[in-house]
Amino acid sequence: MAERKVCLVTGASSGIGLAVALELVRSGHTVYGAARRVNRMEGLRAAGGHPIAMDVSRDEDVARVVRTVLDTQGRLDVLVNNAGLGLHGSIEDTPLEKARHLFEVNLFGAARLVQLVLPAMRTQGSGTIVNVSSIGGEIALPLGAWYYASKHALEAFSDSLRQELGRFGVRVVLIQPGIIKTEFEKGTAQELRDVSGHGAYASMAEAMAKRAEQAFSGKSKASDPLVVAEAIREAINSPSPEARYVVGYLGRLLL
Ligand code: NDP
Repeated sequence: MAERKVCLVTGASSGIGLAVALELVRSGHTVYGAARRVNRMEGLRAAGGHPIAMDVSRDEDVARVVRTVLDTQGRLDVLVNNAGLGLHGSIEDTPLEKARHLFEVNLFGAARLVQLVLPAMRTQGSGTIVNVSSIGGEIALPLGAWYYASKHALEAFSDSLRQELGRFGVRVVLIQPGIIKTEFEKGTAQELRDVSGHGAYASMAEAMAKRAEQAFSGKSKASDPLVVAEAIREAINSPSPEARYVVGYLGRLLL
């Protein structure tokens, strides 16, 4: 078995984050899973993990969680920044307030955690930060501009961070999932349906909503979150991980 590591996984109440947390527990690591819906992490607790309440957009929550892990374990080896939201609709119609909130979660949520774990990782002289982006961090499709922008930003942030941290023994890995069967796809379909009910973008939104719905319902191909969890486990255990892992089904991305 690989060396036992202390891990913190965000967004561990469903989908990819829950699969990652369970996979790391199965691999023998000590795992803290954080999310707002702690009631959704009883399965993680039963498996031997440690659920903990945290909203990544709240400074005080993030500080409390990092302090708890460090006070209890004395170290933190792995941070998986997975918590994320989607936001779908035309640029013309999407209120900027919603876009700002998306960035608070998808970009600044990860940044808050990075800032707080780094002093410990630098002192340890080791650590791995895994940022869950998306294949949408490399390409952009219509009706999701703010989501794609947030993931592009997370990728630039990660690439810069990797270069800052190499000398301290801290590694930075980007994960780019394709189409993964989680509640995220269901939420995407619902948002696009709201757009498709009216307005100039209706037909485009309807086509995209169908695609997201089919992925969630299993009617079309979508990968199991476990494939992402396995890639992250491999990245953590590898002595020199790749900078980027593209994982999961990539078909049907374009209209
Ligand atoms: P889910 O909707 O199943 O999971 C999202 C997770 O993020 C939940 O655990 C949710 O927990 C958490 N989360 C959302 N907002 C916050 C917040 N403010 N504070 C703390 N946690 C939060 O979707 P996925 O598992 O699919 O998504 C996980 C990541 O994978 C996201 O970053 C997403 O962008 C990325 N991704 C997903 C793809 C897919 O096809 N599914 C494709 C590419 C990337 P809670 O609500 O309990 O707080």
